[in-house]
Amino acid sequence: MHSDTRQFKRRDFLRTCGWAMSALAVGALRRPVEAALASPPQADLTFIKREMPLRLRHEWTAIPPNTFRLRLADDRGYNRITLHHAGTEVVRVTSERAVVRCLDGVLGGHLRRDFGDVGYHFIIDYAGRVWEGRSLAYWGAHVAGHNEENLGVVLLGNFEHQRPSAAQVKSMEHLVHVLRARYRIPSHEVYGHIDLGQTLCPGRYLYPQVQRLSQMA
Ligand SMILES: [Zn+2]
Repeated sequence: MHSDTRQFKRRDFLRTCGWAMSALAVGALRRPVEAALASPPQADLTFIKREMPLRLRHEWTAIPPNTFRLRLADDRGYNRITLHHAGTEVVRVTSERAVVRCLDGVLGGHLRRDFGDVGYHFIIDYAGRVWEGRSLAYWGAHVAGHNEENLGVVLLGNFEHQRPSAAQVKSMEHLVHVLRARYRIPSHEVYGHIDLGQTLCPGRYLYPQVQRLSQMA
C-alpha cells in the first residue's frame, strides 16, 4: 500500500500561505472525491479537550483525508514528539478566518504531494490556538524515516525569520505537556525536526524553546 512517508522537501515549504492557499487548495479540491471514506477512524481527543481548547479537523476543512494513503497507527502507540515550523513566509495572522486560510494552504500542499492528509497531528497558530490536523488514528508524515510512533506538532510561521508569539510558545508547552502525560513520553523524546533530519526546522527562534522542553524533568 502506498503511504505518504516520502521525504519532505524543503523547497515545498518555501511558499507563502497565500500562494499555497490559492493554488494548492484548488488542486486539492479538484482531487476526486474518491478520497472520501464514509467514516475514517476517529481518535478520542477528550484527554486534550479537557485540558485546553482544541479546534477539530472538521471545524476548519471539509476536505476528507484520503485514508488509502494513510497508515493506521498500531498498538505501539506514540513514544516521541517532534516539533516543526510551517517554514512558509512570516505569519502573524490571528483571526480565525485568516488562520483557516493558512491551514488550507498547508493541507492543500500536502495533498498535492500525494500525502493522504496534512502531515502533522496538531497545528498551533500565532494566537496560540491549537488545531487538530491528521487524526491520531494515523501515523503522521512529518519526519522522513521517523513517522511511526512520532507525534507531529507544527507552529504556523517561519522561525528562521520571526519569533514565535508568547501565546504560541505557551500553547506548545501546554500541548507537549498533555501529550507527554497521555503517552508517557519522557522529555528526552521531545525533538525539533532538525534533531532527526537535515533541515533548519523548527527555526533558530523556536529551537531553543524546543530544547528546553526536551530537557525538562
Ligand atoms: Zn519540520
